[in-house]
Amino acid sequence: MKLSIPDAIAAITPYPPGKPIEELEREYGISNSIKLASNENPLGPSPLAVGAISKALKNLHRYPDGSGHYLVRSIAEHYGVEPEQVILGNGSNEIIEFLVKAFVEPGDDVITSHPSFLMYQKFVQIRGGVNHVVALSDMSHDLAAIADRAGERTKLIFLDNPNNPTGSYLPRLRLLDFLDRLPEHILVVLDEAYVDFMDETLRIDTTSLLTPRSGRCGVVSLRTFSKAYGLAGLRVGFGLMAPEVAACLHKVRQPFNVNQLALVGANAALQDQFFYQETLRITEEGKKTLMAGVERLGCRSFPSQTNFFLIDVGGDATTLYEAMLRQGVIVRSMKAYGYPNYIRINVGTAAENARFLETLQSCLAECGYA
Ligand SMILES: *Cc1c(COP(=O)(O)O)cnc(C)c1O
Repeated sequence: MKLSIPDAIAAITPYPPGKPIEELEREYGISNSIKLASNENPLGPSPLAVGAISKALKNLHRYPDGSGHYLVRSIAEHYGVEPEQVILGNGSNEIIEFLVKAFVEPGDDVITSHPSFLMYQKFVQIRGGVNHVVALSDMSHDLAAIADRAGERTKLIFLDNPNNPTGSYLPRLRLLDFLDRLPEHILVVLDEAYVDFMDETLRIDTTSLLTPRSGRCGVVSLRTFSKAYGLAGLRVGFGLMAPEVAACLHKVRQPFNVNQLALVGANAALQDQFFYQETLRITEEGKKTLMAGVERLGCRSFPSQTNFFLIDVGGDATTLYEAMLRQGVIVRSMKAYGYPNYIRINVGTAAENARFLETLQSCLAECGYA
């Protein structure tokens, strides 16, 4: 075999696949581990979603509805937009891919922040585009530097708001000023995966920005069922955008990109207001408890508008991560993101939060950080 691998593909570092929890437990000889590393919902999946999926199992011999008719209609109603403005994805990640496929040609550039969500840059690389990466300033998107960077060949700007991994958010007026400064041909993609967890007073009504007034660039809002709705394993997300943007994305997607169980599960989850509100409540409560506990142990925690936050552990984060792993508590070291002394954790159940704090205390001592 003599493969000719395109340069763009050869240059890509594969996404490090995490091991299954069962494998980690076997390797480390532990059991009952808890995972606070992927910002998942500690309450499990929405029960209404589980019920709807069970009922739909008997139809698995059929192809899904390729238009996602019912889910699109529910989303449009829920967010006050037209069905023509909604695109469904196999996770919101797939919509990032559609945007890059549809709008970026080889040599075009895309602006992202660092640290931020890593998938944006990956899809740009695959397409042969050029990534312009702008460092966060004071843990927030540096909108002034990004606007300065934007040029003729810039097609997309990705901003996760709130940002992963810092949990910072963009103030409304700063975002509007930024949009006014940009050339009209650019699309600004606001990845709002964590918007559900924000203080209501800080949320921006992004649906009013999708079809811009003349002179202003367009905006796409990405949302997911993976976090507040507890359906990360189902892979379903959506994008809200101007109808002419959506029309382009429909051209590059597969006809059945969202599977049948995901369509019914997400639709049921969207109606599950009890589960959704309960998620927000335990997240808010848990975040307060965790942050106070972390500070009591002498570590600094960073304010966050999401279900996760950063902790400065006062020493090498990966060493602490490994010590915690040996005790069955899985967190994320931020060393690879450029924060060598920080870990990121998401809020768990009350029991998981208590276990995290106990384990942190013992591991800080073990590592000699406390
Ligand atoms: C978790 C997360 C998502 C969700 O991706 P899905 O493909 O919908 O699971 C999107 N963006 C960011 C920044 C995230 O952290």
